[in-house]
Amino acid sequence: LVSRKIKRTDTVIEIKGLTIGGEEKVIIAGPCAVETYEQTRAAAEKLKSLGVRLLRGGAYKPRTSPYDFQGLGEEGLQILRKVADELDMIVVSEIVSPNEMEMAHKYIDMIQIGARNMQNFELLKVAGEANIPIILKRGLAATLEEFLFAAEYVVSHGNSQVILCERGIRTYERATRNTLDISAVPILKNESHLPVLVDVSHSTGRKDIVVPTSKAALAAGADGIMVEHHPNPPVALCDAAQQLNPEEIENLCNQLKPFLR
Ligand code: PEP
Ligand code: MN
Repeated sequence: LVSRKIKRTDTVIEIKGLTIGGEEKVIIAGPCAVETYEQTRAAAEKLKSLGVRLLRGGAYKPRTSPYDFQGLGEEGLQILRKVADELDMIVVSEIVSPNEMEMAHKYIDMIQIGARNMQNFELLKVAGEANIPIILKRGLAATLEEFLFAAEYVVSHGNSQVILCERGIRTYERATRNTLDISAVPILKNESHLPVLVDVSHSTGRKDIVVPTSKAALAAGADGIMVEHHPNPPVALCDAAQQLNPEEIENLCNQLKPFLR
């Protein structure tokens, strides 16, 4: 069902007056994790001033170490919803368990399924039964075929609103956190009609190359990018090194202007 052979035209996902997968290219930005109302509001205000309406923020964080900050859970979603409503923004956030789906509808506009859960088939099935756009991230060591089969789980269970997100894969290279597989973008666009995004933060983990990697993603045909922004990255509770500060996100948005149509 996700194949171009079945449906030749691009799937365009509409959300609160915004489209993903159409003519327009989108930026999804926000902190790695929701930490406080003030932090979320500051990030959102900056993004709004730059014309970014899709606000991301993690409330359920799938952390590698059990001793790292795990996210605020439902309280984090409440903060995101409040800030988004105040500023007319759209909430993108991750859930990690099928049990969270029903509750998530109260707060989230687009549900993210993270790399570590790309093959959480029970979560994929529940996402397929929901009527809400899903951003599905590529697994850390998933082939494109496995990635598309994961998307197929969601679509075959009834939800055709799926957006694919390349977020880097595991390789031997240590110069970047993961290896951004830029060729995944045109391959996914050719093989599937679903929109494709690139997460330029988690794929490289380096903010010094976020401008060229974002340009490369859009030039390769991505429908948009995801990027982390924190009002004060040095004090961030997770992914401090890769989150863009206000000046850096402004520079990125300015540099991408010519690429956003
Ligand atoms: C995230 O976007 O917050 C995240 C954890 O990304 P990934 O699942 O790609 O690691
Ligand atoms: Mn992060």
